[in-house]
Parts: sequence; structure tokens; C-alpha cells
Amino acid sequence: MVGLVLVSHSAKLAEGVAELATQMAGPDVRIGAAGGLDEPDGTLGTDATKVLGAIEDVWSADGVLVLMDLGSAVLSAELAVDLLDEDRRGRVLLTEAPLVEGAVAAAVAAGIGERLEVVAAAAHGGLTAKAAHLAPAAGAAEVDAAAAPAPGGSTDHETQPETLRVTVLNRLGLHARPAALLVRAASGFDADVTVADATSGCGPVSARSLNGVATLGARRGDDLVVTATGPQATEALAAIARLAEERFGEPEDLGPQEPEPAQAERVDGRAASSASDAPVPGPGTVLAGVPASPGAAVGPARRLGRGAVQIPDAPTGEPAAEWAALSAALEATAADVLRARASLAGRARARDAAIFDAHLLFLEDEALLAPTRTGVFDRGESAALAWRAAVAAAAQAWDALEDPYQRARAADLRSVGDQVLGHLLGEGPAISTAGPGVLIAPDLSPAQVVGLDRFAIAGVACAYGGPTSHAAILARALGLPAVVGAGAELLAVAEGTLLAVDGDAGTVTVEPAPDAVAAVDRRRQARDSEAAEARAAAGRPAVTRDGEIVRGEANVAGPGEAEAAVVAGADGVGLLRTEFLFLAAAAMPDEDEQAAAYGAVAAALQGRPLTIRTLDAGADKPLPYLPMPSEANPCLGVRGLRLGLARPEQLLCQLRAVLRVAAAHPVRVMFPMVATVDELRRARELVDEARAALATRGVAVPARLEVGIMVEVPSAALVAAKLAPLVDFFSVGTNDLTQYTLAAERGNAGVAALADPLHPAVLQLIDRTAQAAAAAGRGIGVCGEVAGDCLAVPLLLGLGVRELSMNPVVIPAVKQAVRATDAAAARRLAGEALAAESAAAVRELLAAAVPSGPATRRRAGD
Ligand code: PEP
Ligand code: MG
Repeated sequence: MVGLVLVSHSAKLAEGVAELATQMAGPDVRIGAAGGLDEPDGTLGTDATKVLGAIEDVWSADGVLVLMDLGSAVLSAELAVDLLDEDRRGRVLLTEAPLVEGAVAAAVAAGIGERLEVVAAAAHGGLTAKAAHLAPAAGAAEVDAAAAPAPGGSTDHETQPETLRVTVLNRLGLHARPAALLVRAASGFDADVTVADATSGCGPVSARSLNGVATLGARRGDDLVVTATGPQATEALAAIARLAEERFGEPEDLGPQEPEPAQAERVDGRAASSASDAPVPGPGTVLAGVPASPGAAVGPARRLGRGAVQIPDAPTGEPAAEWAALSAALEATAADVLRARASLAGRARARDAAIFDAHLLFLEDEALLAPTRTGVFDRGESAALAWRAAVAAAAQAWDALEDPYQRARAADLRSVGDQVLGHLLGEGPAISTAGPGVLIAPDLSPAQVVGLDRFAIAGVACAYGGPTSHAAILARALGLPAVVGAGAELLAVAEGTLLAVDGDAGTVTVEPAPDAVAAVDRRRQARDSEAAEARAAAGRPAVTRDGEIVRGEANVAGPGEAEAAVVAGADGVGLLRTEFLFLAAAAMPDEDEQAAAYGAVAAALQGRPLTIRTLDAGADKPLPYLPMPSEANPCLGVRGLRLGLARPEQLLCQLRAVLRVAAAHPVRVMFPMVATVDELRRARELVDEARAALATRGVAVPARLEVGIMVEVPSAALVAAKLAPLVDFFSVGTNDLTQYTLAAERGNAGVAALADPLHPAVLQLIDRTAQAAAAAGRGIGVCGEVAGDCLAVPLLLGLGVRELSMNPVVIPAVKQAVRATDAAAARRLAGEALAAESAAAVRELLAAAVPSGPATRRRAGD
């Protein structure tokens, strides 16, 4: 870690700055204070030998950065470097950075393990954020809070600043979201607007800067003085006055106990509160969410970050090109944020989704852009280096806030900054954490879950999302205990706080008591030994007591999982979610790339059959290289096969790749989201076209390719008898079928209890499909999450299902459940379930039928 030396004429000043920087960056950073002369009377001055001693005290092979105050401090520091051993001299940098801001910025950068050059850049940028904040106020008259006239009190707006005094009424002060509204309002007028907190004496800052306004740290009751100059100064102040009266869009005394609108109701009946108003949950608090992936885990709370990225030493292009790259990265990040906002908007309250407004403002904040511009154009740095230093410097201002909630928003800024870096460096979404523990996040994209380090992450807790969201499915695939829909309070938990995640009960306990931690450990051990028994038998076929063979297959997202599936005892892959293969790609993979990827999965299966589902993008599975126009109801929009038919070239390309692999391996193809017979006919035509195109090129194709469809839209189940002659098999996608049958969005924690695949309405659709399949002599399987639920196994077998495709981790247990089932008894059970009136009644029937069966999972709300 880079060491720091602070050279000042005053020993007290050097020590004081060292103390401040240590508080900001943590005790691990090595900071040497070399202030004053070695005189008993405390004479002011600087001493080269003292500086030399300090450099040696904090020495590390990573180097040392020296910050100085003025005059002889610079000379003493230079002399000290001259006195150093030659081999060390090259690793010491003297910086002209301001002593206080520079030391704090440098300490933070050193603390996160940055290189010497990056630490120096951070120090250098320490002052620019402050300068950017203050610059717009330069032309304004001194803020005289006491004498501030009411808005409209001045008429000469060209020269005279107008001022307004408002009191912050928001319970949690002017935190990120209300501050974002103020910034939006101020930016809408042709006026230079500044804000100062007259109560605390902080500011003024530019009202166009979210970093500036929010890091004023204004609390409830504080008086703000808003000053405006320019043609629309009066209008700007009037708009801000209105906003302040309306508590910047927050209801009066919004508190955690206050009942929220219906949309916010969670399955446990408690009201969710937004991240922006959530208090930090105290020790022992149990946050109730929805079980998403079984198991229990304990560990410190961790947030996603980008970890140590390789920032190029030198810019790759001219400053203008660097700036253009940054602009493109900012735009791409804004698009990500808008997508996340749109996706959350359907699942949470508008206020929760508005958290993302603050993220958007970060992307256009001059407090970040100005220092980045200086770095790129004046210092010739790469855009990535300059941007990272600007974000680090701005985040320190948030870190320094007194209020713990407001302080925690530094994480938001860092995460947005990270997203920009990700685009700038051409990397995927942030997937690393600062250390091992329990990952907490608002929600996770499939790409983020797939990229998680299974050994570092013990469990996952999301504030939003439902148990069939793709994040939850992937968590199960990775065997990661997970809870979703735990509410916004989760996001207020500080990094490092001990959390216990119970993926069976769907709870997250904050700072659990030692006995609760021990209980989690015991459960983990018991589960491990049960699982070991099932694994020992997993390689054998699953045959019911009365001799019916049931295929236990795997849902996978790539060759690695296919290998794991074989180890878990899979009889094949019933669902390859091809969209996950290329989640991190910047462009649609071409035919060769796809053929290679599918070929790798087929090879990993060592001769077992592979069902490749064509791209099922859209709705909750956005692909970076397939930007979709925004839709009011994406789940009902252009997704799955609809998207493939709308872009036939892409589907044809995928079908050619599938056919090429099918020439050498037992492969079949499956179309997602089929709603009508016409769609299926058109898709079959495309299979023929793809075959013909390959034949023309002289590429080998299989004599016959089995074609199937996912039954996940109720219309498909209802016309299954018409579809059956056109397919070789049906695979029921109960995740979507449940969503569409019960009109309960699968990622929405608020309707998670409703979205139960064991509802008789869903079962009747499966039954109808199974009957159509049987009449036409076609195969039928289930590949939705319910196929991996041991409790449901007898019921599905009773309905006629003979292929169960699931997350590989549950294959051993499900095969055991098949072995415990009598097919004839299961048929009677299915008949009773079809006649039941609710999912709860079906579950009671099943529980009674399998009183001491293998581990069963119940869902919240049952
Ligand atoms: C389903 O809908 O049940 C299914 C298996 O498809 P996905 O979860 O990928 O939408
Ligand atoms: Mg589906």
C-alpha cells in the first residue's frame, strides 16, 4: 500500500491533517506527519531529516506520496528525497496537491490499494471538486442569510442575485432523492443557482450538482439559503420554494411504520419503505422477504463493486478521443440506469424507482465532470483514471457527512462510478465485493449472479425481486442461499454488518445473536449430510415404485453448469437458456461463436441429450446488445419467440448454429413464449430455411431435428391439441405460465404469494397440455422451477409429466422423490389437486401425501 508523508511548517497542522485523513481512509493507511522543527518551543519551520525519517517510517515497495504546505516545505521535501537511497528515490513522488484535500483524497485512494500514480492523481483532484462547487457562486453577492429577501424581491436579475430562505422539513434531511429533485428543478431554468446551509454554515454549492447539494448534509430544520442570478432567477426560486413546501416530494413524517400504498405491501403484510427513507436496521432486526434459494448463511454484508480494475497507465488516444469515450460510457450507463428504473418501476413504488433519478444526476454532475475534464485535457490522463479520481474525491465528501444514512449514499455514487468505468473499459457489470460475506443489493441482473465468486459469497439478499426472478433462479443454480424482496431497509445496512440469511424462511437477520449464528451452522451441517446421501444415488435412473421411468434433467446456462449437471446426476439438459451464454457479450454472437458455445455444452454432457432453447430475451432478461424500445408492460411485449420472429436474421443465425451442433450430438431445439399456432408454423419454416442455408454451404446437418415448444402462455396450453401435431415435445415453463395465468408478475415480491405454480388453474393448464401430448403421442416435461420442488414431484408425475428439468443442485433430491412415488397413487392425487380451490389446498394435499418425504420447500404466503 502506498504510504503518505505530510510536510508542514506546523507539527500540529501535519498531525491534524494526518488524523483527518486516517479517519476518512481507515487506520491501515500509513501516514507520516513531518511538521515543524525539532525544537522544544515548537518553532515553526520544516526539516529535511524529519521528512526523510517520515518517508522511511511509511516506506513500502508501492511507493510514497509526499504532500507539502508552502515555501521551505517544498525544499525540505526535495532535499529529503535526495538523501534517500537511490533505489527508493524513484518510488517517491512529490505533489503540488493541496495539503488537506489532497491528503484525504490520497489516503482514500491508498487505502483501496491504488498505485502510486493513481494516489497522486487522486490527491491532485482533491481540490477540483470544491472548486467546481464554488465556481458558479463566484459572481453572486455574499450570501446574507439573515437579510435574504423573499423570491421576486429583486427585479434586476441580470446583476443582482435573488435569494430565498427555506427550511428543510424532510424527516431524513436533504438526502439524495430530495436533493435530486432540487437539482432537477434548478437545472430547468436559465439561472445560476447556489444553495447554502445557513444553519450548519456549509456551502454555498452549485444547485446543479447533486454531489454538492446532498453533501451539504442539510438536516431537518436546517435553513437553506438559495441564491439565483440570471434571466430566470425568479422562476427558479419560485419552483424551489414550492418543492421545499412539498417536502421535496416526500410525505410528511414518512416513517418506517407508516402504512404505504397497496403497491408497497409485502407478502408478510409489512409495509416496505424506500431506500431513501429507510432507517438503518439495528441489531437483531429480522427483515422478512421471500425465500428464493434454500439454505442458510452468515457473513458480513457486502455490496458489489468493480474491485481492482486495470486502468491503463496512459491514455489510449488524444484527449478528445478519451473524452468521447467517457461520454459514450456515461450514455451507456444512463441507459442501464433507465432500464433498471423501468424494470423496478413495475415492481416497487414510484418513490423507490426514483432512487435511480439520483444515479442519473451523478452522470451529468459537473462536480464529477469538471475534475475529470481537467485530468483528461490539462494533465493528459486517461478518461478512466481521471473519472475514477473524481468519483473517489466526490465520494469522500459523502463519507464525511454526519448522518449515517446520508453517508451510506457514497456507495450509490461509487457504484454508478463503477458502472461508467465498466463501460469505459469494456468490462461487464460489477461482480466483485470487497471481501467474502453476504451479498446485498437492490436486485441482481442475471449477469451479476452468474459472475459471482461462489467461494466469496456465502448468501444473497435482495431488497426487491421475486422467487422466480432470474436472479433467484441463478442463485439456486449456484447453490447460494438467497432471500429476495427483503425491503428497502436492507439497503440501509452498512457494509461489513453481520447478516444471517435464511433462504428457507425468507428472512435476513441483522447482527444476529451468537446462538442464532450457531443455529445457522447446525442447519448447514444437517443439510450437507442429507444432500450427501442423495448425491450418492444421483447417478442412477429415477424410477417410480411401480416402474415408471422419469428423466431428471438440468436447466443450465453454459458448459460449466452442464459439467456440474453431469456430476449432479442429470440424465441430460432439458433447458439450455441460451440468452445467458452471451450476457456479457457486446454484440450478438455470430454463428460460429454460437456453434462453439452450444458444442461445448453438448460435449460436457458426454452423450446425454441437450435441449437448446432459442434466445428468450426481453422483459426481465434484457441483453446489452439488443436494446429494446421501452414497453409499458414488457412481460406482455416483444419477448421470446416474438422477438425472434421480429428479427428473423438473428433467429436464423441461431438455428444454423443449433443444426450444426445437432449434426454431431443428440440435440433438440425448443421455442420460448409460443402463444399461437401461426407463430409455431413460422418458427418451423425458419428451421427449414436454416437447414437449407447450411446445405447450400455444404455444411453437415442432422437427418432430423426434434422441435419442441415451451408452454408458458395460457393460450398455448389451451390450444395444445392444435400445437401437438406440429411439435415433437412440450416443455411446460411454469414460471411464466404461472405469471400469465394468475396475472402476477414473477419478479414482484408484492404478488409472490399469488404466483404459486401449484394453483389449480395452472395445474389445469398442465393437465390439458399433458392430455394433448398423450393423444398425439408427444413427450411432455416441466422445466419451470416447480420441477425442482420435491413436494410437487408426485403431483407432476400424476399429471403425466415424465421429464423434470431443474437446477442441477436439486437433481439428487428430486430423483429421490421420484423413487418414493407410486405413479398410480400420484394420478389419484393429481385428480384431487385439479379439483382443489386454491394453491394452499393443493399444498395441504401434497403435504399429507408425503408426510415425511424428502426436504420440501414452502413458499411465503402459503
Ligand atoms: C419458465 O418460464 O418456466 C421457464 C423455464 O423459462 P424462464 O424461466 O427462462 O423464463
Ligand atoms: Mg419462461
